[in-house]
Amino acid sequence: MNTPQPSQSTWDAVDRALEQWLAPQDEALQATTMSAERAGLPRIAVSPAQGRLLEVLARAIGAGRILEIGTLAGFSTIWLARALPPGGSLVTLELDPGRAQLAHENIDRAGCGEMVRIVVGPAAESLESLRATCAPPFDLVFIDADREHCPAYLEHAIALSRPGTLIIVDNAVHRGRVIEQGTGEPSVEGVRAMMDAIQRHPRLKAAGIQTVGAKGYDGLVLALVGDAPRAESDPLNILLRHDAWATREVLRACAGLTDEQWHRRFEIGPGSLHDALTHIVGAMLRWADRIDGPPTELRPSIEGDVRRTPAELLVILDAAAADLAASAERARTRGLGTEFAVTLAGQTHRFTLGAALVHVTTHGMHHRAQCLNMLRHLGVPGVSDRLPEIDPLDWQLQAKA
Ligand code: SAH
Ligand code: MG
Repeated sequence: MNTPQPSQSTWDAVDRALEQWLAPQDEALQATTMSAERAGLPRIAVSPAQGRLLEVLARAIGAGRILEIGTLAGFSTIWLARALPPGGSLVTLELDPGRAQLAHENIDRAGCGEMVRIVVGPAAESLESLRATCAPPFDLVFIDADREHCPAYLEHAIALSRPGTLIIVDNAVHRGRVIEQGTGEPSVEGVRAMMDAIQRHPRLKAAGIQTVGAKGYDGLVLALVGDAPRAESDPLNILLRHDAWATREVLRACAGLTDEQWHRRFEIGPGSLHDALTHIVGAMLRWADRIDGPPTELRPSIEGDVRRTPAELLVILDAAAADLAASAERARTRGLGTEFAVTLAGQTHRFTLGAALVHVTTHGMHHRAQCLNMLRHLGVPGVSDRLPEIDPLDWQLQAKA
């Protein structure tokens, strides 16, 4: 028998049932929804079931300080504020002064006025100001404003976090549009860029979940903030971070070279500073893809006819280092002793993930030594004579400074 796929009418009915069983609304919450209707606001507040989820999550982590981005009429604000212990506080950011005023009345009516501060204005600016005040970190951040600025909101949220802070992003699936590539639409591109940033971020562990309900088809991302970077003790992380830093140092040293010096041919390694540094960064990209393995395919090589400036190569280096670090994290999850197949010059070899990662970084070190020699040959004052050894101990000293 073919069971029809449940659709919107079922989701509505189930949400009403869940609300009655688990998330009953008091008069203040009902009045908030009615006020939003009367004001003609879009029906984009969380559902009662979702509001209850926010409350349960906030209670589960014992959140005492909550940040919300996107207030509307204050519906989600009230659920979150009700999770706060005595003395707790919530800051909520809203662009539209009319909505903020309405939310203010609704939040007061719900008895949460003492705990809640509404900040009116573009959220990115309000977040900058919050960071400037050096206030204590938030325990929970609920991102629920425009999708376009999600990457910026995420970055600010992390800056305003402590290890253990939970960041919740609403509307992250966008009726499935999150997987559409190259739409050029700010709302789609914004969520996609945020997903990439979460994937790359060394401090975040995140889950994504699709949701259906009275608000249609969408989804949530829950990201847990981990420990702040500190003096590294893990050998693989030291290798990876030192490698990216050292190549950056060499590229910076090349920024002052003339075009002729940057491309001058030497009987050393790949033959010029441009070629050697492009080769180092190219290998990082290649190995990031190889380490991830199928279905990830090798990207087109950056080595070839294109000539790039040191500044252009720096941008690619930063992306390559982030990609490699993310691949290394995934490799760690799979186990660094896991073997994988690599085809080099037509021959297939099997290496462990750990060996491949050590290879990329020592490969960088090998070619950087060639670069240092080319720089010495060029004899550029302030570059060839002052370039440090850029070894891992230099890196640790600089990281502490
Ligand atoms: N969290 C609310 C719903 C928020 S709807 C709830 O579930 O009840 C999104 C809100 O973000 C809207 O009120 C909109 O005015 C606000 N918003 C959109 N862009 C913004 C921006 N750049 N800065 C601050 N708020 C913004
Ligand atoms: Mg929302």
